[in-house]
Amino acid sequence: MSELASYVHKFTKLRRDPAKGWPASTRGKSPYKPLLLLAVLDQFDQGQLTRNLIELTPDLGNLFDLYCAIVLPPGMIGNIAMPFFYLKSEGFWQLVPLPGKEAFVASGRRLITESQLANNVAGARLDEDLFTLLTVKEHRDVLRAALIDAHFDAPTQPLLWQRYATNQAAFLYSSELLTQARRQLKELQLPDAESSYTREARDQGFRRAVVVAYNHRCACCGLRIVTPGGHTAVEAAHIVPWHKTRNDHPTNGLALCRLCHWSFDEGLMSVAIDYRVILSPQLATHGNMPGFLSMLAERPIFLPQENALYPDPTNLDWRNDNIFRKV
Ligand SMILES: [Zn+2]
Repeated sequence: MSELASYVHKFTKLRRDPAKGWPASTRGKSPYKPLLLLAVLDQFDQGQLTRNLIELTPDLGNLFDLYCAIVLPPGMIGNIAMPFFYLKSEGFWQLVPLPGKEAFVASGRRLITESQLANNVAGARLDEDLFTLLTVKEHRDVLRAALIDAHFDAPTQPLLWQRYATNQAAFLYSSELLTQARRQLKELQLPDAESSYTREARDQGFRRAVVVAYNHRCACCGLRIVTPGGHTAVEAAHIVPWHKTRNDHPTNGLALCRLCHWSFDEGLMSVAIDYRVILSPQLATHGNMPGFLSMLAERPIFLPQENALYPDPTNLDWRNDNIFRKV
């Protein structure tokens, strides 16, 4: 058997928990191992895995969540720690302990919460043979097909392929947005962005570009929470709404936590052209508004590290004239 055929066999025969309750879409078994491997394959396609160490990053967590959303019942959130830990029983995935945690990890203690993993392992290492195979796109395609065919039912398979295509397009889009912004190009030069990228890929790509630019920190209140499984507390907001100018330039974005995002959308909070938080007088009329919001007034916002990604004052000016509630 060739090496590729041997890993196709291993990927096809992943041991999955047959506990009751998994839907037909996952052939009645836990989908987490194949979904995590699909997310890892995506990271190879994106050029994000250039050395043999798979880390629990927000990008990996996000890809895993996006795949989970296709097969899990609505409202259920996947726990990436489970497959990250249990894949070690498949023989090609070894946990790499953090310095000083070697004995603890070797003891076989179960590490199935995101915190347990983050506190004890640096990541996972693949068999060298598998890592080398995965650096070649044609091999990844064969292994991806094996995972999708073996572990998901026929109606679910095209949805997973579509998810893969969108993930790749979104990553490409976010990389283009950041590259062009760093080159200080005022106008995006994407080849006919609207026909080249689906709406979903553009949204996902814009979100990633802005969240990366702000390093997961809310521009207005400074909140920064990234769980060990990669869930982030911030979202990406357009300063001039997308439907007005179709502008996904990172300088037309702000990373905001959910409360700041809602306040921003409602015109109750905004950012002055000299990068201060400004609050609408209408906030004071809402008796139930949390007090800390009013303390943000006039404070400097939390800007991206790179000047080229700062919000464009022209966009802020437009927003403050058109959406912000001045009175
Ligand atoms: Zn906030």
